Order: sequence, then structure tokens, then C-alpha cells
Amino acid sequence: MDLPVWSPTIPTASKSKLYYLVHMQVVFDHSEAVASNITTFYFKPEKPVDYTAGQFVEWTLRHANPDDRGIKRWFTISSPPTSELISLTTKFAGKNGSSFKKALHKLKPGAELTISDAMGDFVLPKLIQTPLLFVAGGIGITPFHSILSWLADTDEERPIKLLHGVHTEDEIIFQDTFDKAAQHATIVVSEPSAAWGGERGRLTAELILGLEQPSENTLIYVSGPEPMVEQLQKDLLKAGIKKYQLVLDSFPNYTEV
Ligand SMILES: Cc1cc2nc3c(=O)[nH]c(=O)nc-3n(C[C@H](O)[C@H](O)[C@H](O)COP(=O)(O)OP(=O)(O)OC[C@H]3O[C@@H](n4cnc5c(N)ncnc54)[C@H](O)[C@@H]3O)c2cc1C
Repeated sequence: MDLPVWSPTIPTASKSKLYYLVHMQVVFDHSEAVASNITTFYFKPEKPVDYTAGQFVEWTLRHANPDDRGIKRWFTISSPPTSELISLTTKFAGKNGSSFKKALHKLKPGAELTISDAMGDFVLPKLIQTPLLFVAGGIGITPFHSILSWLADTDEERPIKLLHGVHTEDEIIFQDTFDKAAQHATIVVSEPSAAWGGERGRLTAELILGLEQPSENTLIYVSGPEPMVEQLQKDLLKAGIKKYQLVLDSFPNYTEV
């Protein structure tokens, strides 16, 4: 068994606790472009990974000449616990991207990475009747993909509304999963083409509460770039949503949706 390894890069929410993370190996299997600049990478774990849909792990990808962001990243497991391969789904910043993402793009089948134990509280509540409003900014859709795939695979039904904010229509992903889960996704596009017939604008608290009217029992799950999640948290509280209703998951190093 691997010895516990100290990880210096715990996300903010967990900084107050001292963690020793156990790592296991995963082997790159294949990748799939899900949009022009978004790819899902699939890995075979050395043994089944113990996680709940919506959780994340720390991925270590050793590569030559890493930049100052290094060889470790946190990514949500975008696949459901019912699937044999585990996946991460991420966005590429092209030539301005980090050495980590460039190395990810160059992976060949058989390449080895390590992952930590899964963690995070961005998971379904125990009570299946609880009404849920899922709000995703851009790549923040990944935990919802895992959760909704898991619900479809296990035939579990929950009262869920899903809003997904993207820049352009190109960034609309995972529609096939949402169809399979019989989950309508309301897509909000901030820079739509003239042909776009759906919702337009940025995902603000005003827009969200204009589209959906959460009851006092509704839990609102918000996932996306850190500045977006922080702003929505402030504005939703100001608009009367109670603190206990908010479940947040923020991705650092992305400045916008
Ligand atoms: C709990 C959790 C879950 C997460 N889940 C996901 C997920 O499912 N999918 C996902 O994509 N991300 C996820 N993230 C965020 C992820 O960990 C990375 O922070 C994010 O993908 C950005 O990656 P990157 O640093 O490699 O930068 P890139 O994506 O390569 O670039 C992002 C921006 O940073 C700039 N940049 C790149 N390199 C540098 C550098 N060395 N110095 C300064 N600026 C630079 C780029 O120009 C670009 O504007 C998650 C984070 C947390 C904490």
C-alpha cells in the first residue's frame, strides 16, 4: 500500500484541516473532445475509486519543465461512481495554458498519473425529496454531470432544476447525459449568436431568481469559476436566500465563466 503523502495544495475550503492524502495510480485510457476547447480524459484506476458523485480528487501529472503552477491540480471526477473508468473534464486556454494542461493534452494511452482520495461536500442531500436547483457556470457543470449520470444509472428520481451559463453556444456540453437523465437544462448564453433562441445574459442572482423561484426548502448548488461563485453567494444572500440553502463549489484559476 502507498504511504500517506503530504499534499500542500488543499483547496481553500479545507485549509483549516491537516490532511494526509493516500494516492493511487490511474492509467490514461482515452480522451474525447466534448466541445472545441473542452475535453474529457478517461482513466483506468488500479482499484475501484471510492467516491460520491460530485466529489473531486487531486491529480498528479509528472511532466518535463512544469511551470510555477506545478504538477498537481484539483479536478472534479466528471464520471459517475457507476462507471469503470474515471474521468476529468477540463477547458484549455490554448497556447496560454499551463504546462499541466499541455501535458494532459499530450497523454498517450498507458501513461500513469496519481490521484488522491476523493473529497468534498458538493454531493446530493440524503433526503431525496429535497428540491434542488443546480447552477453551473461554464466548466462548473462537471459535478452535475457526475451526479445526473449517477441518478440516471441508478434510476433514482429527484426534483432538480438545472441552469447552465456559457459564453457561446460552442460551450454547451453534456446534453446527451441530461437527456438520458430526463433532465431539462436551461442554457443561458452570455455572448450568443444571432441564431440563438434561448436565454441570454450572464448568470446573475437576478437572472437565476427570475427563471426559477426556489422555495425555502430548495437547496441551491452553485459551481463554477471562483469569482462567479463568490459574487452569486453574496447576491443570492442579499436577495433573501438563506445561508443553509447554498451549497458551493468554486474552481480557482478561472477568472470568468
Ligand atoms: C474542488 C475543485 C474542483 C475543480 N474541478 C475542475 C473541473 O472539473 N474542471 C476544470 O477544468 N477545473 C477544475 N478545477 C480548477 C482546476 O484545478 C484548475 O485550477 C483550472 O482548471 C485551471 O487550470 P490551470 O491552472 O492549469 O490553468 P489553465 O486552464 O491552463 O489556464 C487558465 C487561465 O490561467 C492562465 N494561466 C495558465 N498558466 C498560468 C501560469 N503559470 N501563471 C499564471 N496564469 C496562468 C491562462 O492564461 C488562463 O487564462 C477545480 C478546482 C477545485 C478546487
